[in-house]
Amino acid sequence: MITVAIANQKGGVGKTTTAINISTAMAAIGWRTLLLDLDPQGNASTGLGIGADQRRLSSYDLIIEDAVLSDCTHKTSIPGLDVVPATQDLSGAEVELVQVEGRTHRLADALNRNAQSARYDICFIDCPPSLGLLTLNALAASDTLLVPLQCEFFALEGLSQLLQTVDRVQQSLNPELGIVGVILTMFDRRNRLTDQVAEDVRDCLGKLVFESVIPRNVRLSEAPSHGMPALVYDHHCAGSRAYIALASELIARLPKERVAA
Ligand code: ATP
Ligand code: MG
Repeated sequence: MITVAIANQKGGVGKTTTAINISTAMAAIGWRTLLLDLDPQGNASTGLGIGADQRRLSSYDLIIEDAVLSDCTHKTSIPGLDVVPATQDLSGAEVELVQVEGRTHRLADALNRNAQSARYDICFIDCPPSLGLLTLNALAASDTLLVPLQCEFFALEGLSQLLQTVDRVQQSLNPELGIVGVILTMFDRRNRLTDQVAEDVRDCLGKLVFESVIPRNVRLSEAPSHGMPALVYDHHCAGSRAYIALASELIARLPKERVAA
């Protein structure tokens, strides 16, 4: 299983929208896909139609209670896509973890000790908007990082802090951690500032930035309220098409030896 953390400590930049739709795109082309919701807000779980009352065991149980992975996974309406949902108790985990031995490796240990990980080809982790212990657990457990970046004025400032964190994680917790790419989100062609930011980001980060960009698209923001990915809600819309393009770019960038035949 290849594990991809989707992280940016800035709030509302499109992490969850990216997590839901890239997971759906991967499942649609036959990859056995797991989406692990590591945000106490639980938006990825809700957006995939897993209501709060349906969330038996969750990512909290996986990290804190040593639960078995297969007990925490829930099927979604999309064939080939399972979710480990998040519940509100995950907000306490950030504090509880401080006391726990090996607190940054709880998730990595949980995924490694569970042979059921092998049932999946790829796992995406939807991170909360912070660089706290939950995000550190995600980075310690992942092969690579996917960064959604909203095309707005302060985008690059937040990014340097994230890249410093990645650097620290590589030096201590997880030397193997890579960065698979930065995806520009909520791109609005009619807005000159957006265009300028996108150009600056590409100048600064070069090939790290995916060629695909995710447009600002109302269908992407409507879909979660129907409990379904945009790719199912309206697979022709510009947002869905952009996520399909991102999925194929992502596959081309994943380590070849790890990509399932
Ligand atoms: P948080 O930091 O709170 O977890 P996030 O980074 O996960 O937020 P999302 O929840 O994916 O961000 O997106 C924030 C809001 O913007 C949501 O209401 C979402 O529906 C909307 N949104 C995300 N991407 C797009 C887009 N490309 N076009 C239009 N709306 C979008
Ligand atoms: Mg989110």
